[in-house]
Amino acid sequence: MKTITIIVPCYNEEKSLDTLYNRIKNMLIQVPNYQFQILLVNDGSNDGTLTKMKELHEKDASVSYLSLSRNFGKENAMLAGLDYAEGDAVILMDADLQDPPELIPQMIEEWEKGYDDVYARRRSRTGETWFKKASAHWYYRVLQKFSDINIPADVGDFRLLDRQAVDALCQLREKQRYTKGLFSWIGYNKKELLFDRDPRAAGDSKMNFFKLLGLAIDGITSFSVAPLRLASILGLIISSVAFVYLLFVVVKTLLFGDPVAGYPSMISIILFIGGIQLVVLGIIGEYVGRIFYEAKGRPDYLVSEYNGERVLQGRKKGNE
Ligand code: UDP
Ligand code: MG
Repeated sequence: MKTITIIVPCYNEEKSLDTLYNRIKNMLIQVPNYQFQILLVNDGSNDGTLTKMKELHEKDASVSYLSLSRNFGKENAMLAGLDYAEGDAVILMDADLQDPPELIPQMIEEWEKGYDDVYARRRSRTGETWFKKASAHWYYRVLQKFSDINIPADVGDFRLLDRQAVDALCQLREKQRYTKGLFSWIGYNKKELLFDRDPRAAGDSKMNFFKLLGLAIDGITSFSVAPLRLASILGLIISSVAFVYLLFVVVKTLLFGDPVAGYPSMISIILFIGGIQLVVLGIIGEYVGRIFYEAKGRPDYLVSEYNGERVLQGRKKGNE
């Protein structure tokens, strides 16, 4: 019998966990030929999430939990889950039931056909603000244009991964993770399923504007150096224009003398160039910052306990 691990990263999800557990259990009746392990990852919640996880683990031996030492963010929480998952396949899903567990049997069916990465694409997004929908739409388009790999639009982390793909992902230990891009980077046979994204079951979204913006920048900077190239091209264009203008000014001065004028044009040019220099410095800074994080070589997360047992760091695979 094949085993499948369902990984659920949770940050302050005490209100969702019971519903989540029941929905998953109901769904599992449809796929009796597999053994399931539910792996709940507590990403440093400060409500009763961990207590709730312990309750579920006591009640049902197929529920495991992993508790991180603080909030490391969803990307790192998922990596922790992948490191600890033991199944022949792994399913990643959110705790808030925005990813319907009812899609899982269909994913398994595709997996049995030989696909290694069965991902769910949102057909609709109910319960999300107009702003979030619009920014998501444009963000995916820009990312596609800029990055070296193809990251499909409207696809989240909800997916089934074969053991082969999981092991590949666990080898990518970069900091400032952008898992969505890593899924594409590893390749393997991919299959898309469509689903309707439901509104959150309980609680509030943990992703605020700044977290999403940070993730968006990580997405671009970890998969492409296009912004740096853009900076060089911009520099070339501006210096060529400036050179032509310089010739014009020199010739004009030689022919017609030099009555002092042009303060407005000078100040606007100085401000314009100054602004561009700051933006370009910022772009370079983004990449230097990434080097800074990589150079420190800190682990992506720290675990405080696994199923009630204290975890000593560096003893689990991938974390050495
Ligand atoms: N999450 C997490 N750590 C965080 C933020 C979120 O583990 O720092 C989890 C959260 O508990 C949920 C999933 O990531 O299971 C998606 O988060 P959320 O629903 O807040 O994001 P949204 O669906 O609004 O993008
Ligand atoms: Mg959500």
